[in-house]
Amino acid sequence: MNESTLHAELAGHLAQLEKDGLRRRRRTLDAPCGPLARVDGRQLVSFCSNDYLGLASDPALIDAACAGAKAWGVGSGASHLVSGHLAPHQALEEKLAAFTGFARALLFSTGYMANLGIVPALVGRGDAVFADKLNHASLIDAVQLSRADSQRYAHGDLAALERLLAASRARRKLILSDAVFSMDGDLAPLPALLELAERFDAWLVIDDAHGFGVLGAQGRGSLAHFALARAERIVYMGTLGKAAGASGAFVAASQTVIEWLLQRARSYIFSTGSSPVMACALLASLELIEHGDRRRQHLGQLTAQLRAGLAETRWQLMPSPTAIQPVIIGDNHEAMRVAGALFERGLWVPAIRPPTVPKGSARLRVSLTAAHSEAQVARLVDALRELA
Ligand SMILES: *Cc1c(COP(=O)(O)O)cnc(C)c1O
Repeated sequence: MNESTLHAELAGHLAQLEKDGLRRRRRTLDAPCGPLARVDGRQLVSFCSNDYLGLASDPALIDAACAGAKAWGVGSGASHLVSGHLAPHQALEEKLAAFTGFARALLFSTGYMANLGIVPALVGRGDAVFADKLNHASLIDAVQLSRADSQRYAHGDLAALERLLAASRARRKLILSDAVFSMDGDLAPLPALLELAERFDAWLVIDDAHGFGVLGAQGRGSLAHFALARAERIVYMGTLGKAAGASGAFVAASQTVIEWLLQRARSYIFSTGSSPVMACALLASLELIEHGDRRRQHLGQLTAQLRAGLAETRWQLMPSPTAIQPVIIGDNHEAMRVAGALFERGLWVPAIRPPTVPKGSARLRVSLTAAHSEAQVARLVDALRELA
C-alpha cells in the first residue's frame, strides 16, 4: 500500500461509520462540569456526567486543589517508584485503604490503567479469566493483555459461570466483573461471585467505578452495600473520576496483593505519578463522600422520580437501582433522533450505540447526580413522555 491507499482506506471506514449512525463527535463545554452545561453559547441541563455526588466543581475540592498546588506544585516529576510518590499520594492511599476496609491501597492515574495493571499482574498464559459479557472495555482489554484464556459468561448468569469454573483445568482462575454495569446500571451478584471464587479457589477482581462513593454506608462502595467481608482473594478497584469528582483510581486489597502490584503492574511502574494536586483534592473529596448521606439520599429520590415518570412510555427501562438509568430505544438512528430532539429542548442526554452496547440496544444513558434538582428531572421526564 502506498500513502494515499492507506489514507483512502481510513476515509472509507469513516464514511461507513457516518452511514451507520456510528460516527462519534465531541462537544466543547464552556463551563465547569455541573448540571448546567454551556455548549455553543447555549445552556443545557446535562444528564451526561458520572459526577454522581456533584463534587467535580465543589468549592471544597477547588480550595484543596489550589492549596495543594501551592504546597506541592503541579507535577509529580517521575513515576511513583522513582521519585513521584509525594506525601499527599501516601496520605490518600492510607485513607482509601481505611475507608474501603482493606489492608492497603495503591493509586493509579486512571481506572483504565488500573485494570490494565491488575489483571496481567495476577494471571498469564495457562491461567483463565471468567468475565461477565457486559464488563467494561478496560477489563476486556486487560484480559487480552494478560494472555490468559478468556471465558465469558452471559450477563449475570451464575449457573453458566459455575459450569465454566467447574470445567476449567487452568492453573490459576480469576473472576472479573464490574460491580455496577456502566451501560445498564444494574449490580453484579457480588455475594454469589465471592462464594464461587471461594469454592473454585479463584481471585475475585471487582471494578467498582460506579459504586465507589455512591453505594454502601458512607459511600464505601459495592462490597459495603452487600456487607461482604474483605476476603483476601478480593481485589477491589475504585475510580476517582466519577463520584469522587476528580480523576484517578485505586486498587485496595491485602498487603501481599498490593506489594505484588507495586512490583509488577506495568501501567503503575512505567507511568508518571498523578499530580499531587489531584491527591489533595481527593483527600477533601473523601471527607465529603464520607459525610455525604444527604447527597446520596437526594440522588436516590431523583432516581425514583425518573423511574416512576418513565414507567409507562414505550421505551423500556432497565432494572437499575443506581443513578445510571438507560432508556432503551433500539435503533441507532432513532436513538440519535431522540437525543437530538432532547438537545433542541435544552436537555443533554447521550445516545450510546454499538459497539459500546450490544447491537439493537442503542439507548439514552441518563445519569443523575446529587446536584440535579427535582424540577430538572421533571423537565426531562416531560420531554421524554412527549417524544415517546
Ligand atoms: C469509567 C470506567 C473505567 C475507567 O476509569 P477511568 O478512571 O475513567 O479511566 C473502568 N471501569 C468502569 C466500569 C468504568 O465505568
